Amino acid sequence: MTSQNLFYIIISILVIDFLIDKYLDFINAKHFDDEIPKILNDVYDEEAYLKSQHYKKENFKFSSVISIFSFLLTLAFFFFDGFAYVDQLARSLSNDTILITLIFFGIIMLGSDILTTPIAYYQTFVIEEKYGFNKTSKKLFFIDKIKGWLLLIILGGGILALIVWFYQQTGNNFWIYTWVFMAIFSIFMTMFYSSLIVPLFNKQTPLEDGELKTELEKFAKKIGFNLDKIFVIDGSKRSTKANAYFTGFGKKKRIVLYDTLINDLETDEIVAVLAHEVGHYKKKHVVFNMVSSILLTGFTLYLLSFFIDSQLLANALSVSEPSFHIGLIAFGVLYSPISEITGLIMNYFSRKFEYQADNYAKQYFGAAPLISSLKKLSKNSLSNLTPHKAYVFMHYSHPTLLQRVESLLK
Ligand SMILES: [Zn+2]
Repeated sequence: MTSQNLFYIIISILVIDFLIDKYLDFINAKHFDDEIPKILNDVYDEEAYLKSQHYKKENFKFSSVISIFSFLLTLAFFFFDGFAYVDQLARSLSNDTILITLIFFGIIMLGSDILTTPIAYYQTFVIEEKYGFNKTSKKLFFIDKIKGWLLLIILGGGILALIVWFYQQTGNNFWIYTWVFMAIFSIFMTMFYSSLIVPLFNKQTPLEDGELKTELEKFAKKIGFNLDKIFVIDGSKRSTKANAYFTGFGKKKRIVLYDTLINDLETDEIVAVLAHEVGHYKKKHVVFNMVSSILLTGFTLYLLSFFIDSQLLANALSVSEPSFHIGLIAFGVLYSPISEITGLIMNYFSRKFEYQADNYAKQYFGAAPLISSLKKLSKNSLSNLTPHKAYVFMHYSHPTLLQRVESLLK
């Protein structure tokens, strides 16, 4: 194969991926005005329904414009040898391989951040603001940004430097060392994410005494779950949207409830949400996700090891000397059809797990309060109640509200 052919394979993958994505967005948008299924009739009143229609359409338009723009920009970057240019720039600043890699990705990240920050700003302060979701101040927005950058530089930069070092020391066997390191790191992160990373952005407090705690205690006792693992997080400082999640395992497991969730829902609805989260724990979903992501990482790294030093990949991006960073970029695109498929499989399992957690809540607490909590949460986030099947299959990590309510009523 010539490097030119490979270049066009890379471009084709980018184009096909973009077209599939836009097609799905388009057919999904065509169903925005579908009639709401009967059993979801009580989710929206007339006014909220209209508001949700506007919200969906505005987001669709905005994201269409942005994705077309960023697709064209990506193509231009490939056609005008952008990576070769950044590679040269990084090489002119240092002779050290690790530093060159760090500078290379630093420039790429900085460039993409300069482009995406105004988009995020518009989304938060124009769209979300208009529909009453936004609670973020401009100061908080930029503080978050800076914290995110520091985290990326320290953690991301550190890990990248280590991987390149593995590569320098062990050649193509680097994938084994990287895999072992990544496995240990992801187990560590699953355990300590809540106590190390979350506090940088949010406050988590144990549940306060009161009716809610009493009711949650009653339920927790019945199913044998330790209530001091339940925390309330101050999500309300950024958005009115509500959420709850289960994280960690062993002694480090915890259920996190957003303060917005506690504000929006009645006590029995919150217990139902808690029951759903406990369901994730009892059915070992966190462990499954962690093990499958470790296996997937190993598979990806193993494949990467065949491509990383390829002269052909480097030439395809108009770079004469193969390097870890150029190999990684080209491999990233070539691998994306496979990662689309693994993403689909992970989404499939994720939706299955949501049903299992719902069933757990139904069995140990009751279907009715969970149904009414799901409906309220959908209403308060102006959710799309009529997404297209294909769109759900490709993108949804949770079943649709209709599917969940139908399954709970069974
Ligand atoms: Zn869930």
